[in-house]
Amino acid sequence: MEDSKHLSEVEVAMCADALNSNAYNTLPEYIKTHLEHCDSCASEAMVVAELAEELNEVSKGDAAPDKRFTIGRHLWAVVAVAASILFFVGVYFLNTPKKTTYKIPLADDMQKSEKQLSETHENIHKEETAKWVEENNDKADFEKIACYEPHKDLENLFQRMQGTHRSHEVEIETPAVFYPVENDTLRWLNPQSMSLYLEIFDNTENEILNHSTNTSQAPLPDLDNGLYYWKLISSDFDLLFVGKIIVE
Ligand SMILES: [Zn+2]
Repeated sequence: MEDSKHLSEVEVAMCADALNSNAYNTLPEYIKTHLEHCDSCASEAMVVAELAEELNEVSKGDAAPDKRFTIGRHLWAVVAVAASILFFVGVYFLNTPKKTTYKIPLADDMQKSEKQLSETHENIHKEETAKWVEENNDKADFEKIACYEPHKDLENLFQRMQGTHRSHEVEIETPAVFYPVENDTLRWLNPQSMSLYLEIFDNTENEILNHSTNTSQAPLPDLDNGLYYWKLISSDFDLLFVGKIIVE
């Protein structure tokens, strides 16, 4: 509302008082008219009303009813000033997830500000959704990291096998740490066509593949992203090689 002055803090406090005591009708006509046309003051009154309701809850029980009333009057002034500051930092104030506990006496008069409040809540809801999505993405990232986590025993075995030449018959061509491309192949030299076992495990030691071959290569199966280990074993069950496969 641009054509007249906004309600003073005292007037806003009166509105809030009226809201909380179901006495909206007793407000002066000019205040009711202003509230009807001014979302800003209407919202401010609601904020003050809510804040006062909370302060009332706090002060309950530690004073006689008449004394409480006196305290209340003093609080109104403090609350009104505080609220007028808080109102302009409104989102921060309303961000606390709690419901408005009071009922609006005349729906028509306050509908606008109610709408404004619900829009604010909607925005907060959007923020929370965005936050949830962000946190969920973090979880997805964690899963990504988890599938590359080395398996303790297989990793030890891999480390121990590095630099050892257990077999003179079979020489491995695939790098010890292998980053395969699509439809890639594990390769070794097997000039004597020895019978060999090939085993592939994921990083939780689940067996992905286990087959025997006397050739010098094996196409990789379709592998999800993650860390895998492969073993080449002789027909005498001698471990010839342990390699790592990292699918990215
Ligand atoms: Zn106003």
